[in-house]
Amino acid sequence: MPLPNGVQVILAPNPSMMTGPGTNSYLVWGPGDRCVVIDPGPDDAGHLRAIATAAHGVIKAILVTHGHHDHDAGAANLRALTGAPVLAWGRAGVPATDQPLADGAVVDAGGRALRVLHTPGHRFDHLCFLLEDAGALFAGDLVAGVGTVVIIPPEGDLADYLTSLDRLLALPTLRTILPAHGPVVEDGPALLREYVAHRLMRERQVLAALASGPATIPMIVATIYADVDPALHAMAGRSVLAHLIKLEREGRVARAAGAADDGPWMLTG
Ligand SMILES: [Zn+2]
Repeated sequence: MPLPNGVQVILAPNPSMMTGPGTNSYLVWGPGDRCVVIDPGPDDAGHLRAIATAAHGVIKAILVTHGHHDHDAGAANLRALTGAPVLAWGRAGVPATDQPLADGAVVDAGGRALRVLHTPGHRFDHLCFLLEDAGALFAGDLVAGVGTVVIIPPEGDLADYLTSLDRLLALPTLRTILPAHGPVVEDGPALLREYVAHRLMRERQVLAALASGPATIPMIVATIYADVDPALHAMAGRSVLAHLIKLEREGRVARAAGAADDGPWMLTG
């Protein structure tokens, strides 16, 4: 799947279990031969030089999807290299922010409109950017082109995350998704629907695991992640906690009196 017209990607050299092949730093070019950068990526001198070189020194702005290191750590040094301001949700999320971006704002990418969408869930400050003339969404870590996205409490909030996915699904012009990790996703809405369905399936599994009586998170993980490498069970436990916190807020589950996050947890009513 090719990138939309006027979009370039520079892959950062930070592959890992969490980042897949590495962070995608995108350049979006307008007709005026000026570009914006979306996600400078890690603070890696070679990577930041590659971005500045590809941009021929004409960067209008450095946009950051959220304040995780693999997205924002290079922001201050890319600003020093290019003189471009850093635009993000705010300093509480991305310390290098020069100009906060409000939900619904439009960033001028050299004559093309990038719509700002505040999409919390993976992190409170998460932004997506919709390149309106192409129906292309720069999705940060809301969804991934490879692997999956983790929602880890207390930073991650599953209820917010599902609301954000629904909001993106309601965008009438959305076609492709350009994630921060992995390749372009041709059918963006189909991927969003898959993510929603997957989370709802996990929620049903968590409720089913509690149907026979109270259980701790390790017990729930052993039941519903039986087919997953045990090395990943600790991470799966954080994901189960995200579900339990959402269900607790909805009054559908409760933890035993005085119990910490691991439980035991039980169904209510
Ligand atoms: Zn992230």
